[in-house]
Amino acid sequence: MNKFTEKYVESFMAELIAKNPGESEFHQAVREVVESVAPYIEAYPYLIDFKILERMTEPERVIIFRVPWTDDRGEIHINRAFRVQMNSALGPYKGGLRFHASVNLSIMKFLAFEQTFKNALTSLPMGGGKGGSDFSPRGKSDAEVMRFCQSLMTELQKYIGPDTDVPAGDIGVGGREIGYLFGQYKRLRDEFSGTLTGKGLNWGGSRLRPEATGYGVCYFAQEMLALKGKSFEGQRVIISGSGNVAQYAAQKAMRLGAKVLTLSDSDGFIYDEKGLDEEKLNFVFELKNIRRGRIKEYLSRYPEAKYFPGAKPWEIPCDIALPCATQNEIQASDAESLVASGCYCVVEGANMPSTPEAIAIFHKARILYSPGKASNAGGVATSGLEMSQNSIRQKWTAEEVDAQLHRIMSDIHAACLKYGMEEDGYVNYVKGANIASFIKVADAMIDQGLV
Ligand code: NDP
Repeated sequence: MNKFTEKYVESFMAELIAKNPGESEFHQAVREVVESVAPYIEAYPYLIDFKILERMTEPERVIIFRVPWTDDRGEIHINRAFRVQMNSALGPYKGGLRFHASVNLSIMKFLAFEQTFKNALTSLPMGGGKGGSDFSPRGKSDAEVMRFCQSLMTELQKYIGPDTDVPAGDIGVGGREIGYLFGQYKRLRDEFSGTLTGKGLNWGGSRLRPEATGYGVCYFAQEMLALKGKSFEGQRVIISGSGNVAQYAAQKAMRLGAKVLTLSDSDGFIYDEKGLDEEKLNFVFELKNIRRGRIKEYLSRYPEAKYFPGAKPWEIPCDIALPCATQNEIQASDAESLVASGCYCVVEGANMPSTPEAIAIFHKARILYSPGKASNAGGVATSGLEMSQNSIRQKWTAEEVDAQLHRIMSDIHAACLKYGMEEDGYVNYVKGANIASFIKVADAMIDQGLV
């Protein structure tokens, strides 16, 4: 960075932090984008006069509300819910709902901010938003989850709609939760519309939506690997998480010939030295999605695997790492372990799983590294395809959806190359993804005037 851009970034960040105190995840996500686009802004100074970054970092609207519900014993609980409607320059707000005890305004704003750029990368007409609650579905009965979802939607339905804001799933919000949320939305609005995505296949959902984020991560990784003349064939892959994204990333990586060695949850990780196969993965699907168990139970069926409580998988030697759990799960020391063990490719399935220090280590080591906003965009892209199918009242085949997903991931990769290729040929995917998406959102905002 030259002196001008450094000064611009620091004064912008100082103002943002003063205006949004204590929101560390939001600061982190904004800083990453501002550092990438500052040189571009320097080349096109009218963007400073238009105060584009100031406008992009101020949500169009934030809704915060109380969600009261009763558990199975009749005890009353109160949770807090959010919907951050960040930017609608490119289309209706679009982004998931997260149910996790850690949810707060900072996490919601970071996710909504990231979502705006990710959605722009897909080239589909979607603005950026995110929402959720500090409610944890872990250990709750189906009836409790249903009552919570119904209570949340009773308020949220006032602010969403197929042309306004279209929520989907995220951590803690899968098919079951989307079903309960959609049922309540339909009851209150008397409308069967595409207001939520991730719906069940027989009531408006798109084929391949459950698979899309994990598959998209692998399609994006294939493009990155191809640059080095490599593929998944025979590569050792470590994955964090064992939820939606991790499960389908594992399935696709395996089917592309990789040896998937690990999966995790917030209690620890399993290491299966022989690698997962279809049967083992089916066990994980059943364990996590139906029985809602913990990943350590993998050993009850496959005792030859090892379980590491309270640990993350980043010290297991690998060629490719796919972080698919949560934000900031790869710290500097984890990044050092990965690089030292020979990992040459990190492709993010989760949102912002690597800290800025970890990213700097990947860049310094010149390994392939892609930020989530590029490599995990397949999920929201397929949600966009679900919205299209709902609008025209049609359902595309799995092959049609897969072909579109493939094309979108390949186009995102090309956009990253266009803006991220450095003089020595190294591709800085962070820079590429941030500049490519920033230009699209900024242009649309300028076209639409000061709103
Ligand atoms: P799920 O709820 O299905 O799975 C989340 C997984 O990550 C679980 O194994 C969970 O373990 C683990 N996890 C969650 N929080 C933590 C934590 N604080 N520490 C360690 N492990 C944790 O969520 P998804 O698979 O849908 O989402 C995973 C990531 O991918 C998130 O970052 C999400 O934002 C991102 N993403 C998801 C998309 C989607 O389509 N679903 C689209 C794009 C991005 P445990 O059960 O113990 O909580």
